[in-house]
Amino acid sequence: MTQESNVVLVTGGTGLVGSAIRKVLETAPVDSEFGKKAGETWIYVRSKDADLTDYESTKAMFEKYKPTQVIHLAAMVGGLFKNLKYNAEFYTKNQAMNDNIIRCSKEVDVQKLISCLSTCIFPDKTTYPIDETMVHNGPPHHSNEGYAYAKRMVEVQTRLYAEQYGCNFTTVIPTNIFGHDDNFNMDDGHVIPGLIHKCYLAMRDNTDFVVWGTGSPLRQFIYNDDLAKLFIWTLREYDDPKPIILSVPEEDEVSIKDAALAVARGMGYPVENVKYDTTKNDGQFKKTANSDKFKKLYGKPFEFTPFEEAVKETCEWFKANYENARR
Ligand code: NAP
Ligand code: GDP
Repeated sequence: MTQESNVVLVTGGTGLVGSAIRKVLETAPVDSEFGKKAGETWIYVRSKDADLTDYESTKAMFEKYKPTQVIHLAAMVGGLFKNLKYNAEFYTKNQAMNDNIIRCSKEVDVQKLISCLSTCIFPDKTTYPIDETMVHNGPPHHSNEGYAYAKRMVEVQTRLYAEQYGCNFTTVIPTNIFGHDDNFNMDDGHVIPGLIHKCYLAMRDNTDFVVWGTGSPLRQFIYNDDLAKLFIWTLREYDDPKPIILSVPEEDEVSIKDAALAVARGMGYPVENVKYDTTKNDGQFKKTANSDKFKKLYGKPFEFTPFEEAVKETCEWFKANYENARR
């Protein structure tokens, strides 16, 4: 197979991560570290192109595009409060999508498949920091059991396909992601986009900006443009069926309160007026992940966008795209 015939299919290509991969590839020079390779075609698909919960629809898409590499991002995704409401659906839809993608990738001889896990799938009761070997060491947090078990099975299925059929399939484990093109829905989205939207409305309507929970849980947030580069690196350089954590360093973990204050500053809202509704769920206290495996394999410092700067850019994006943003 010549390099010219490489077709990279990105499922979930219109989402938070898919849009960032597209942006990074379209900005970086061809054949540079995070650029396209000469002659390579990238195809970004979403649910209107194929319903990945349906095997026939998924197979037809693979037969249409004949991908040589697949980055599988499509998923039913949501923050803590959406997971609490739709745990069963999270399991059924994600399990079906992931199984269809893995099966079809094998059936059309995809040369490399990267599927996406999450630090949300790690055990609730665990020692810290968490690393790649600990995915199955105990039940996940009850709030997102459906999502977590569906994703854990991707880890299993990926390794089994590598072992039995010799497939070059792998999985990556990002932490909490935010950035442009996120889902800014206040009930169903993740914390940073939810807080940006709430802060926007508080300023527009002169109402309170209320953070849910105590603000004390800890998270490692990663900006989608940074994660996109790590995905491109994984595609080019990481050929091992075992998962790899893609995360900011442990010392960059921040509290939800820190994140809320960064949002307030990013939006220009007075930080002293931020309020907390402590009747709301805090979710898992922390999921601190160790990214030494990536650091060692990458072999040089990776320049993550400073958190405050990334939050500010996301606030600016939301303000500029309010009418069309997912919200
Ligand atoms: P997202 O913004 O919610 O986008 C989801 C994408 O999946 C959209 O393009 C959507 O297409 C597509 N999709 C959903 N259901 C589909 C279906 N039945 N058939 C085909 N396509 C479907 O998601 P994201 O935040 O970029 O997440 C990307 C990956 O990262 C996911 O695997 C997620 O589990 C993982 N992850 C996310 C986070 C986070 O903080 N966001 C953290 C860790 C891991 P439509 O828009 O057309 O429906
Ligand atoms: P998680 O990282 O997978 O747990 O999911 P989220 O991105 O939804 O973050 C949940 C954490 O943020 C919990 O501690 C929530 O109590 C807290 N939080 C505070 N305000 C909000 C909000 O407006 N939306 C969401 N989703 N979480 C919030």
